[in-house]
Amino acid sequence: MITFQGVHKWFKSLHVLNDINLHVTSGEVLVVCGPSGSGKSTLIRTINQLEPIDKGTLTVDGMDLLDKKTDINKLRAEVGFVFQQFNLYPHLSVLNNIILAPTKIRKTAKRDAEEQAMALLERVGLAEKRNAYPSQLSGGQQQRVAIARALAMKPRIMLFDEPTSALDPEMIGEVLAVMKDLAVSGMTMVVVTHEMGFAREVAHRVAFMDAGTVLEEATPDEFFSRPKHERAQQFLRQLL
Ligand code: ADP
Ligand code: MG
Repeated sequence: MITFQGVHKWFKSLHVLNDINLHVTSGEVLVVCGPSGSGKSTLIRTINQLEPIDKGTLTVDGMDLLDKKTDINKLRAEVGFVFQQFNLYPHLSVLNNIILAPTKIRKTAKRDAEEQAMALLERVGLAEKRNAYPSQLSGGQQQRVAIARALAMKPRIMLFDEPTSALDPEMIGEVLAVMKDLAVSGMTMVVVTHEMGFAREVAHRVAFMDAGTVLEEATPDEFFSRPKHERAQQFLRQLL
């Protein structure tokens, strides 16, 4: 589903992605971790071309992202993105937040979009909040709506960039539970997170980034019990 081969990216003189080689197969959950500033957000943002790459090959669901003929709108419709900040539209109800993209971009009929949105709200446990506005919801509820909104486009891949980092501790679990449910359903996912419990339980593989490189890539079992690099050991120690 996602292949990075020798991918590089620079911000001016900053070599932010340095020879990235990664492969994510269908249904796989990859957790990306590493210190602040190591390039995790930049890496995940290249997957739906929020950040273009400078060198190498990046293929997402068969689309070559350096090929000028690749339709970026098609790519973005297939790749859902959930950010640290929920970015819900404050002036729209929960239901209208969710049906906006399907009706405007996918041209789904309003009634069908609403039906699908209600099914998604059931799935994230928020059906009773369909008429609420974002400001009336807790952070955890808003993030669950943001996940439902991303799913409404029927993506084939879901990207999460520190989805629980802005949440109060008591709300982290409910969001991780929704993500776990999604993973179990077979969604292909790339998740930047410091929630190592989630990584251990849900990830198929963990990539540890440091200074723009993937320093280590392993199963959660290997990574947590026998991290190979000193930088990874240090990172894990400091999370305890
Ligand atoms: P992480 O998500 O691991 O904290 P980022 O990918 O956000 O790392 O950032 C990696 C490096 O790139 C940092 O040094 C950051 O300051 C820099 N950076 C990120 N975005 C930009 C940008 N748009 N322009 C210039 N530098 C950037
Ligand atoms: Mg980041």
